[in-house]
Amino acid sequence: MPESVPAFDYLRELATYRPEVDAAIHRVLDSGLLILGPEVAAFEREFAAAVDAKYAIGVASGTDALILALRAMGIQAGQEVITVANTAVPTVSAIGAIGAIPQFVDIDAKTLQMCPASLKREIRATTRCILPVHLHGHPANMVAIEQIAEAAAVPVIGDCAQAHMAALDGKSVASFASINCYSFYPTKNLGCLGDGGMCVTDCSELASQLIELRQYGFRGDRTSHREGVCSRLDEVQAAVLRVRLRHLECGQARRLAIAQRYLSALADTDIVLPSSAENVKHAWHQFVIRSPRRPELCAYLQQVGIGYGVHYPLPIHLMPAYQALGYKRGSLPNCELAADQILSLPIYPGLCDEQVDRVIAGVREGARS
Ligand SMILES: *Cc1c(COP(=O)(O)O)cnc(C)c1O
Repeated sequence: MPESVPAFDYLRELATYRPEVDAAIHRVLDSGLLILGPEVAAFEREFAAAVDAKYAIGVASGTDALILALRAMGIQAGQEVITVANTAVPTVSAIGAIGAIPQFVDIDAKTLQMCPASLKREIRATTRCILPVHLHGHPANMVAIEQIAEAAAVPVIGDCAQAHMAALDGKSVASFASINCYSFYPTKNLGCLGDGGMCVTDCSELASQLIELRQYGFRGDRTSHREGVCSRLDEVQAAVLRVRLRHLECGQARRLAIAQRYLSALADTDIVLPSSAENVKHAWHQFVIRSPRRPELCAYLQQVGIGYGVHYPLPIHLMPAYQALGYKRGSLPNCELAADQILSLPIYPGLCDEQVDRVIAGVREGARS
């Protein structure tokens, strides 16, 4: 039996520029400076330019980026923040971390992103913030969402953890919303060698607040001007991220090439393929197909050694930790149906053509069986 195809693997891609990463790590070790030094400052500048934002503030994780963004926007305990339930748990746990209350709206059945019509129906006078997610690397419908937000005078924060380099109408996803939050968790399109995250914004006032909040409320002194936390991106991760940012475009091109091969090779099956409209630049963080016969397809892929994922099997409103919010099965029909049918095929820069062919053959066979 041929070797299995892993659902994710960073090693083969990293090997292609490993000496640059090693040199970056050694440069930091030799510098004598490990926290908030020149590497973080340089990476913040370079990342801001890459996503077309004015300011970037490195923090310890994507979850922290969301928590600090909510705090910088002045969201307080007990206030309501609208998001989706088909996201990674951290989107929702960040809302809970500041004592705010998550309110879920349904998703668009085709794009699997926040549904503007559902948002329009559910937004109320007590809503304090809207937190759309660019899930799987597909941009949410930010034009419609921002219109609704503006009419209600409610700020928007973007969860871009899966959407490095995604764009809508030719504009980076970071050019929408007041603050955008990125994660550098190793499986993301731009991953570090541990945990890391970033807030980006075009507003200098919000940038100053984020800089204060990430380190005890300090303003370049050692005095807390407000209560902050400890959430810093470190020099080693920043140095590694600078190298990986230089290779990101190449990685994105590989993701797109793999997506295009899946799209054409699976077009004549009864599998529902991911949508990607003309005005959308998909980051292809995940390649998510849908099948009403997912259990059979999964069993077959498992049998032939093809890795896959389900992002995510249980919507957050149905998780035990969030039962007190009062949602039930049936509350979010599109979200719940998608959760039962979705399946993520391997898509990462280190996946070679021969592996892609094996995935295609496996999915075609599994869909028939
Ligand atoms: C990964 C992820 C996060 C959290 O990022 P961490 O760096 O793991 O804290 C938040 N939102 C979404 C949608 C994610 O995929």
